Amino acid sequence: MRPDNFPKDIQPLIVPQPQGDLFYQCLGCSATYSIKELLYVCPKCGQVLLIHDRNFNELKKIPGTTWQKIFDYRKMLNIPALKGIYRYHEFIGPNIPLSSIIYLGEGHTPVVEANNRLQTKAGIKFYYKNDGQNPSASFKDRGMASALSYIKYLIDTGLASNIIAVCASTGDTSASAALYASYLTPDIKSAVLLPYKKVTPQQLSQPLGSGARVFEIPGVFDDCMKIVEKLSQEYPVALLNSKNAWRILGQESYAYEIAQDFEYEMQNKVVVVPIGNAGNISAVMNGFLKFYEAGIIDYLPKVIGVQSEHADPVFRYYLEPDVDKRVFKPVTVKPSVAQAAMIGNPVSMPRVIAIVNHYNQISGKQNVFFSQVTEQSIMDWSLEANRNGHIACTQGGESLAGLAKSFEQGIVTDQETAIVDATAHAIKFSGFQDQYFQKTIPNEYKIEFNQNLINEPCLVMPKNKEKIPVQGRPLSDEDFMVFADDISQSIANMLNLKKNDN
Ligand SMILES: *Cc1c(COP(=O)(O)O)cnc(C)c1O
Ligand SMILES: [Zn+2]
Repeated sequence: MRPDNFPKDIQPLIVPQPQGDLFYQCLGCSATYSIKELLYVCPKCGQVLLIHDRNFNELKKIPGTTWQKIFDYRKMLNIPALKGIYRYHEFIGPNIPLSSIIYLGEGHTPVVEANNRLQTKAGIKFYYKNDGQNPSASFKDRGMASALSYIKYLIDTGLASNIIAVCASTGDTSASAALYASYLTPDIKSAVLLPYKKVTPQQLSQPLGSGARVFEIPGVFDDCMKIVEKLSQEYPVALLNSKNAWRILGQESYAYEIAQDFEYEMQNKVVVVPIGNAGNISAVMNGFLKFYEAGIIDYLPKVIGVQSEHADPVFRYYLEPDVDKRVFKPVTVKPSVAQAAMIGNPVSMPRVIAIVNHYNQISGKQNVFFSQVTEQSIMDWSLEANRNGHIACTQGGESLAGLAKSFEQGIVTDQETAIVDATAHAIKFSGFQDQYFQKTIPNEYKIEFNQNLINEPCLVMPKNKEKIPVQGRPLSDEDFMVFADDISQSIANMLNLKKNDN
């Protein structure tokens, strides 16, 4: 729909102009910095940063219901820059002109209600939000669209040129970074660092296909992250990990979409996300807080962060009920099928601590919870979900395992409705499914095989193994009839089918 066909009262607001006054703020010493420069950590104290808008109060002057109307009407716009996460431009990157925005089809991922069978099994009504249906098949595209649009804005305004973008990754960050950087060839080149043999073959193929330089490093993600940090401190490179606060801004879109998907009614809603580096949960909480402060939603949903028992530093931190006694200790990770979240020392931990505190305070009660789940339950719930119409990756299975456990523990009740994050597409992690079905998951994962969940292909051969079709050498019509009879009879037998009467 053309902007001039929109209702008169919102017409001037439908296509946003660059506005806002963004700045970085340090979570350690509260120092603030201009966004004219790409910063990852505080130059004074080395802590991570978040981006705020000095003009945020201006947004509050527009009534919440008007914002709702603006976002709802923007669904009908055909302006590419506003088709993705920048539908919420004023809340994501108000300073970025539409001409600098990169849109590769990210955001607005489907919200799919679980069938009765799966809801009954989990104990609570829930929907999956399928972030695997983003362009590089994970939610990371939300943050990357934001970070790369910001870099393009720096390039467009002459503040940067010839960018080398780098990241460390458990697989999905690199796939996404390489994809978005490749769109900006030749202004940006990308290099990704991956823990050797700790990403899936599909994830490895993605940055290779996008033309990035791919470096495999011995160790786990936490080791790669240290090397990338060293590179970003000592060389002129653009860091695309979620240490980069622009990533967090983009990932807030997940919260905005949930608000819009449920007609801005957030009472009795529960949002469940897996935690790795903790960028995502930080962004999701921040997003809801911003919409709440602007009067767009009236309630803050309950948030549950889920971790595997093999990589659970955030869960452990919150085990201590006394706020003053909590101390963060990194953990040494053990192998996890939720491999994309297998992180022992989350970069965004200071963000989590600050935002959880704020979120609970504004909610007037504890409204953020952490759940720890077994590898077994992660695997079983992801297989179970996919046998009931979903496309959940193992991290999506982790989210659902966390919801089911939270229901058992009374953290959520059947009076609530959950939105569960399937953070990537199932096919990226199908190797774990194959290993489960072939009973070859190594012992260290501590996973036993439930025969009811195992599925295997069955090769059907005719009695006469000489007479089978081969590519380039088809059977004669007569031989093929015999072959087709034989094979269809075998299949019918295995499916317990009875022949039609006539
Ligand atoms: C990165 C990633 C996570 C973890 O998200 P964080 O922001 O690092 O906490 C979870 N699932 C998938 C599929 C991921 O790619
Ligand atoms: Zn500082």
